[in-house]
Amino acid sequence: MKRISRRSFLFNASAGAAAMSLPAIISPLKKSQRYDGKKLNVALVGLGVYAGILADGLQSSEYCRLAGIVTGHPNKAASWKAQYKIPDKNIYNYENFDQIAKNSDIDLVYVVLPNSMHKEYTIRAAKAGKHVICEKPMAISVKECEEMIAACKNAGVQLAIGYRLHYEPYNLEIKRLGQKKVFGQVRLIESSLGYPTGDPSQWRLHKALSGGGPLMNVGIYCLQSARYVLGEEPVSVTAQFGPNTNPELFKEVEASITWQLQFPSGAVCNSSSTYNCLIDRFFASADNGQFEMSPAISYGPFAGKTSNGPLHFPDINQQAAQLDGIGKLILAKQPLPDHITGAEGLKDMRIMEAIYKSAQTGTKVSLV
Ligand code: NAD
Repeated sequence: MKRISRRSFLFNASAGAAAMSLPAIISPLKKSQRYDGKKLNVALVGLGVYAGILADGLQSSEYCRLAGIVTGHPNKAASWKAQYKIPDKNIYNYENFDQIAKNSDIDLVYVVLPNSMHKEYTIRAAKAGKHVICEKPMAISVKECEEMIAACKNAGVQLAIGYRLHYEPYNLEIKRLGQKKVFGQVRLIESSLGYPTGDPSQWRLHKALSGGGPLMNVGIYCLQSARYVLGEEPVSVTAQFGPNTNPELFKEVEASITWQLQFPSGAVCNSSSTYNCLIDRFFASADNGQFEMSPAISYGPFAGKTSNGPLHFPDINQQAAQLDGIGKLILAKQPLPDHITGAEGLKDMRIMEAIYKSAQTGTKVSLV
């Protein structure tokens, strides 16, 4: 597929464009304009694989810039400092991180650590007076999510969750098709995501760090797509663990899990997430037609079609789009939309806890 630049897509679609001065940041730009006002200064916490992808997104972000890093590894600090020209005063480790409170060069802390560390670093960032983006899943329990929301509220800072697909054109389209009932009421959704995994030392296989297996890691996207396509919250769930295909590898977390969500409209979503094989697809059947995507959830490029024909949207830098969407609102001192905040992360966590409960007990779990 032809790669259309993210910038030309944004301008052509007039989506998320912004004006030149802070008070007018969220008003539409003309096609030839480019935002050149103050950028939101972002510090990344945890310099692993996804932080590298976010750093790349920050390079092409209009509203955010990579200003600081937090890492426990001096060698990583040195290489990131050199690559991204980060001043020593904006480099922290996990022990001295709280001193970031005194650093007016950092506006927002982006937590990209293993899941069980999200709560601690979100709360420490909030107490330091910084806005926070926390990666998905928001944390490893409902209780933790509630504590994070309360800490950010008390500190008067905004809390976003790294739900990049809310800025991705194909996913925005399936959300529109479903919520606007373009093909009538959606009755049935299938949404699944998985990939084979092998390294037994990775934190994702250790429950204390991950909180769970593929459900917590990638199944969360399937929950999200069902919820944003229907625009409804599930009322009950049934779930089943898959067989443990490799007991040596999957000692602490599930190898795969399948679940069924029931929604108030009567719509049903069946999903699987797995560490056994590759799957990345979304399918919706509505009264008057169908729409689908595969790949649907990964970093793209995506492909999709409806009963009317193929879908064609630009292949964008999802991380830059997400950072810009969040950054321009924070710069303009505007509240973030609910569907990307901690409130949304908490909703997903409640459903994931119910999915695990259903799989463990073999019973239907009510969500109302
Ligand atoms: P990773 O293993 O590549 O990086 C984790 C980082 O945390 C490393 O820099 C590591 O040094 C640091 N760390 C600190 N304490 C640690 C400990 N006790 N054990 C292990 N690592 C420790 O992981 P990742 O893939 O970058 O994932 C980080 C977070 O980002 C996760 O919450 C994950 O769900 C999320 N993520 C989101 C997306 C997305 O598309 N939104 C994609 C990948 C990962």
